[in-house]
Amino acid sequence: MAALVYTESRLRPEDASFDQVVEAGLGWSRAIHRGQTFRILDLEGNQAVDTLFYSAADPSDRYDALATIREQKNIFLTTGTRLISSEGNVLLAITADTCGRHDTLGGACSAESNTVRYSPEKRHMHSCRDSFLLELARADRGIGKRDLTSNINFFMNVPVPPAGGLTFADGVSGSGKYVEMKAEMDVIALISNCPQLNNPCNAYNPTPIRLLIWDA
Ligand SMILES: [Zn+2]
Repeated sequence: MAALVYTESRLRPEDASFDQVVEAGLGWSRAIHRGQTFRILDLEGNQAVDTLFYSAADPSDRYDALATIREQKNIFLTTGTRLISSEGNVLLAITADTCGRHDTLGGACSAESNTVRYSPEKRHMHSCRDSFLLELARADRGIGKRDLTSNINFFMNVPVPPAGGLTFADGVSGSGKYVEMKAEMDVIALISNCPQLNNPCNAYNPTPIRLLIWDA
């Protein structure tokens, strides 16, 4: 794998206007305003953070994995990546990253995919798709099942060899690593702190994350 590039942030946690720990397996959503900076911190390491972004003004304009990949000509996200929406707008731009790579292809785990990939008994395990839906129902943001499109997996390692195969590999993240992005428009962030126990995306041990927001 190509050498990872790390970019640190100068922002200090004590200056953040929002600071919250989200336990493993839970969903979370919040408005992030234009100019604010959003940090996702992997507290214990090797934790996949399934994430979607929507325009706050019009949630039908939302993170578009294909547009983002095409724009930057790369399937991995890191510092410099602009997260592009389905209408071609820049939602956020990644400004710091001490992990070095984030997945755009692996998607979110679900009861259905757990059943197909692992075994029928896995159907009732917690999944990111259910966490997304529970959080959307709780927060009542006018965003629903049909709005769950291909998501970002922050900190997840899905290498793609020359033949084009996908592997859910052991992580490249570690305790205290973070990714930080600046909102270029008012957005809604939707997160599932992945509960997956059937593959190494969370090192078989889902752990909490810390979310911080700084005002412009
Ligand atoms: Zn998951």
